[in-house]
Amino acid sequence: MPQTRSQAQATINFPKKKLSRALNKTKTSSDTKLQPTNVQAIPSSGVKSLPLSPRKRLGDDNLCNTPHLSPCSPPKQGKKENSPPRSHTPKGRRLVFDNQLTVKSPSKREQARIHQNKILPSVQKDQEIITNSEQKCPMEKDSARLRLFKQEGTCYRQAKVVLNTAVPDRLPAREKEMDVIRNFLREHICGKKAGSLYLSGAPGTGKTACLSRILQDLKKEVKGFKTIMLNCMSLRKAQAVFPAIAQEICQEEVSRLAGKDMMKKLEKHMTTEKGPMIVLVLDEMDQLDTKGQDVLYTLFEWPWLSNSRLVLIGIANTLDLTDRILPRLEAREKCKPQLLNFPPYTRNQIATILQDRLNQVSGDQVLDNAAIQFCARKVSAVSGDVRKALDVCRRAIEIVESDVKSQTILKPLSECKSSSESLVPKRVGLTHISQVISEVDGNRMTLGREGAQDSFPLQQKILVCSLLLLTRQLKIKEVTLGKLYEAYSNVCRKQQMAAVDQSECLSLSGLLESRGILGLKKNKETRFTKVSLKIDEKEIEHALKDRALIGNILATGLS
Ligand code: ATP
Ligand code: MG
Repeated sequence: MPQTRSQAQATINFPKKKLSRALNKTKTSSDTKLQPTNVQAIPSSGVKSLPLSPRKRLGDDNLCNTPHLSPCSPPKQGKKENSPPRSHTPKGRRLVFDNQLTVKSPSKREQARIHQNKILPSVQKDQEIITNSEQKCPMEKDSARLRLFKQEGTCYRQAKVVLNTAVPDRLPAREKEMDVIRNFLREHICGKKAGSLYLSGAPGTGKTACLSRILQDLKKEVKGFKTIMLNCMSLRKAQAVFPAIAQEICQEEVSRLAGKDMMKKLEKHMTTEKGPMIVLVLDEMDQLDTKGQDVLYTLFEWPWLSNSRLVLIGIANTLDLTDRILPRLEAREKCKPQLLNFPPYTRNQIATILQDRLNQVSGDQVLDNAAIQFCARKVSAVSGDVRKALDVCRRAIEIVESDVKSQTILKPLSECKSSSESLVPKRVGLTHISQVISEVDGNRMTLGREGAQDSFPLQQKILVCSLLLLTRQLKIKEVTLGKLYEAYSNVCRKQQMAAVDQSECLSLSGLLESRGILGLKKNKETRFTKVSLKIDEKEIEHALKDRALIGNILATGLS
């Protein structure tokens, strides 16, 4: 997260006309006598000049990569309604001006701070930054205590944080499915009864998240069980699942045993009377689907060995995976796993999930209701994959954030009806969601069109270039996120820029995926997520619109 504020601190005259227009908009009464005259820069925090590190450039002062106007920004009318006027001042400057209006009362600000403390830690940090910057604003000499609120866009960061795709604390719209899983686990763990459950459903329907949430919660409630979670995508071949399980379940030496010996040891370990119940979760289980289905068959038989302590949970997209091995399992009726299907999320469910996430941020909502509904409708019509809905929203927020950041807005705090109002300079609307969806639908090169604005944050550009360098060097189309992160860190080092951490790198990759620039094949272990370029090498320069930077990175290379 960006930590540093802008260093550009010039004295600039603020265009009166535009400002008063904006003020009249928020407060129609003519008693607003805002006459900004001296627009001053906030004194720098002591450091005269700092290198333009990517973090800074990515942060609220990173305006180098943000457009004056988003290419598909809402129609003018909407824009006027939603957004404050544009400043003619150079980008990135924080401005202060004087007039007769008084500052917002400290108690209100204090209240806002208390209010904000309800949200996530990273969100709190952002809030701190704003509060600090507010405190640094110089007061006017002749008592006209006046302040400008720079539209910092903190609300956008907060919203992006809550719209993440990690395992959430609660999963609305999956209450029934979670009940089934919870009851199954309680019954089998507490009753010391082996068994198996198979969860199926399309991507992004909450299978992994529901199970992970339940297991995390259950650990606090029920003692005496061991959990092993394996993502079968990380296995080289189906048979590799056995050594992987052996490594987790027993001592290392078992995993060194070959073939039958290992299987015997494993079975013995699972059937010895003493020991905790073993919950074995095999995510992306369809990866174990071999010609004779012998691997799957063996696994589903394990819970039925006498004295077995194994509770097997398989997760996959394929609905009929168990059907295909069932003919063989039919012979032994009790070996059949319990089945649970996760249907794609409906429009209402997606809207509920998005709304639930956004409710975690106090204050005014960044996405308007029409945007949420539109996103939910579009995603449910195609896949019902809530991961996509979250990505689309984050990307739409990024577009608006980028647009707002390119404007330095002057607004007296007293003009704001409430603290929360001041935190949302411009809302994400239906048009932004539509823009993102059309980008993903193949219109992605819109950003690269002649005259289109450059809205790629610097870190994303570096990431794309790093991927290009890596795929060229390794002569492969797909690399793991771990390798990409290494290359990216290397590029950042060479460019003398700070790198984001690996999880943020994944999040940036998600944003690039939602733009149709990258392809991601996720893996439970982040570093094994496969990343590929979805656009032509030649298109990259055009799409990123930064010939100088790309040229430099590509010329410097990786080694
Ligand atoms: P895949 O088949 O691709 O592995 P999946 O069904 O396992 O997909 P998840 O990984 O569980 O999908 O879901 C992706 C993310 O979407 C979750 O990590 C979570 O952030 C979000 N998500 C899914 N369902 C819900 C929900 N009901 N409420 C809130 N967030 C959800
Ligand atoms: Mg999953």
